[in-house]
Amino acid sequence: MPELPEVETVCRQLEPELEGRRIERLEVDDPRWCRPMPPAELEAAVAGRTIEGLGRRGKYLLLGLDDERTLVMHLRMTGNLVLSTCSASERHLRARFVLDDGRELWFTDPRRFGEALLLDDAQLDAHFAPRLGVEPLSDEFTPELLGEIAAGRTAPLKSFLLAQKGVAGVGNIYADEALFRARLHPLSPAGSMKPEHLEALRDAVVAALEAGIDGGGASIDDYRDGRGEKGRMQDEFLVHTREGEPCPRCDGTVERIVVSGRSTYFCPACQVRLRRRSRRRRRPARRSP
Ligand SMILES: [Zn+2]
Repeated sequence: MPELPEVETVCRQLEPELEGRRIERLEVDDPRWCRPMPPAELEAAVAGRTIEGLGRRGKYLLLGLDDERTLVMHLRMTGNLVLSTCSASERHLRARFVLDDGRELWFTDPRRFGEALLLDDAQLDAHFAPRLGVEPLSDEFTPELLGEIAAGRTAPLKSFLLAQKGVAGVGNIYADEALFRARLHPLSPAGSMKPEHLEALRDAVVAALEAGIDGGGASIDDYRDGRGEKGRMQDEFLVHTREGEPCPRCDGTVERIVVSGRSTYFCPACQVRLRRRSRRRRRPARRSP
């Protein structure tokens, strides 16, 4: 599934191509893509609009239109957003934007879990607030904030990172890579991190995501970038999918376990399993008056 680096890669590639282009028309081939809005209604709303920009929030792509509305798209498992001048095949097409320069922007998606939603710009913050936490590549993502988000959480660090409501955009790949970089065991309780762990994990999440962006995203399955090309990050994973291989840092061997139903790769020799912090002593029971 595309994560923050994959979506960011698409965004950076397509933004300069799309900005200022007029959408001549939109053709929705699969009504599930934009439900509950009927395809005809979305097609009418988008036709003739000029694209003001392409942005990202968490793993969502935000296509800003000139009528103060934004088409919010999520690639889910196998979605791709590609310009038709690229080498991508037209198979699995779910929606097609015809642009004023003759090019087309395609949303392709073999498993058809991807989706689109048209929102007023004024609704965006309220829409994302209950779904997405801090943007990890923003200045707001500090060790202190990470500590506030993790406080009291008994969930394993891997599950904690996968939950979009805490830190937005991190998925299965980059959670493994970040925990390895931070030398933290994926089963450590999130609330057990001390200040040095919080700092290490903050830095590691940022480094793992930036490595993913530098690598053009990871194409383990269907992911293709905005030009229809595969990413290179899958060749540069430190531990993800590396079960049985030597740890890149110590004499250990990378192992695979399942956490929250997801394959999780780590080195048991150099990733420390933190213990749950002992609860504070209970307050004495209030005396009855
Ligand atoms: Zn190791």
